[in-house]
Amino acid sequence: MVINTGLIAIQGNFNSHRQKISEAFPRSNLFLIRDIYDLPEKLDLVIIPGGESSTIHLLAELSGLRKSLEKLWEQGVFFLATCAGAILLSKKIINPGLAEPWNFIEITTQRNAYGRQVDSSIQTINYTESAEKYTSHRHSEGVFIRAPKIIEVGAEVEILARCNKEPVLVKQKNVLGATFHPELSSDSPVYDILKNIICSA
Ligand code: GLN
Repeated sequence: MVINTGLIAIQGNFNSHRQKISEAFPRSNLFLIRDIYDLPEKLDLVIIPGGESSTIHLLAELSGLRKSLEKLWEQGVFFLATCAGAILLSKKIINPGLAEPWNFIEITTQRNAYGRQVDSSIQTINYTESAEKYTSHRHSEGVFIRAPKIIEVGAEVEILARCNKEPVLVKQKNVLGATFHPELSSDSPVYDILKNIICSA
């Protein structure tokens, strides 16, 4: 199956996603998306990476990219959003800085909820029963860098993984949001999960 992936490359940690996507989907075309002119005719997957949500938001808003992404989401294109990406796709953001919620997934996130950069950490993540249909992994490491917390989830949101009992990987329809950085771990189940969701769609 050929997967057309649009990797949002405005700012932040997008490079590490490239390798992971080419491993997960060997027959994938990857497009770096900085503005609307970079969008190819057809996309199956959009990745919004970690970075700084205020910066990504302001530049995506200015260039019109936010609106185009919203259309793709409405059309059912799958979104993987990590860290700052997950903040942006939230319905509500606590401590938003200059970011605004794009409202693709019914969660409330709190930016920088663990503290400053020095409070970043690697933790054990536990996958829930809801994740069993996508991966046989029960645990993995999770890299949390100035990460947000998901402090509220809507009724339609599936919690796929928790860390210290708090949700860190969530899915609603065509959106998968992680508060950690799966692209920085050597063997993250998030790519099994992504692959299984996309290939079974
Ligand atoms: N703290 C960043 C923000 O507010 C997110 C950090 C990250 O993406 N690793 O957007």
